[in-house]
Amino acid sequence: MATNRTFTMIKPDAVADQHIGDILAMIEHGGFRIVELQKVTLTPERAGEFYAVHKERPFYGDLVKYMSSGPIVAAILEKDNAVADFRTLIGATNPANAEEGTIRKKFAKSIEANAVHGSDSDENAQIEGAFFFKS
Ligand code: UDP
Ligand code: MG
Repeated sequence: MATNRTFTMIKPDAVADQHIGDILAMIEHGGFRIVELQKVTLTPERAGEFYAVHKERPFYGDLVKYMSSGPIVAAILEKDNAVADFRTLIGATNPANAEEGTIRKKFAKSIEANAVHGSDSDENAQIEGAFFFKS
């Protein structure tokens, strides 16, 4: 199992605001290699499936609506210690709590529209990557 990979999405707000290039640059400058990359619009059904783990949470309905509101950019990234290092690079879920210099501090608009996704474990990185990419 690849423990040196993680999965990310650039979320609809950041794509709409034309921050794809800025965010990919921060990712590459952070030492991550882009293994797979795809711009795609999720249907509400696909977004709901991706975030199924949060189905019982109060924010789930709004999150699914938001994540299917426009194109996202999905990517598989490679680096030693990828999952943990990428969570450090993106910062806290709520941008109000995100450290200076993190992607969310720079580009997130709210706790929901927080610019990027990052996998929380090697196991989920594998599952989430396979949700978008065959290889
Ligand atoms: N989210 C939200 N409200 C909350 C918590 C999370 O809208 O109170 C959204 C937000 O877009 C977040 C996603 O749901 O990125 C998944 O939540 P999680 O707790 O897994 O945060 P993450 O792993 O993305 O930091
Ligand atoms: Mg999460």
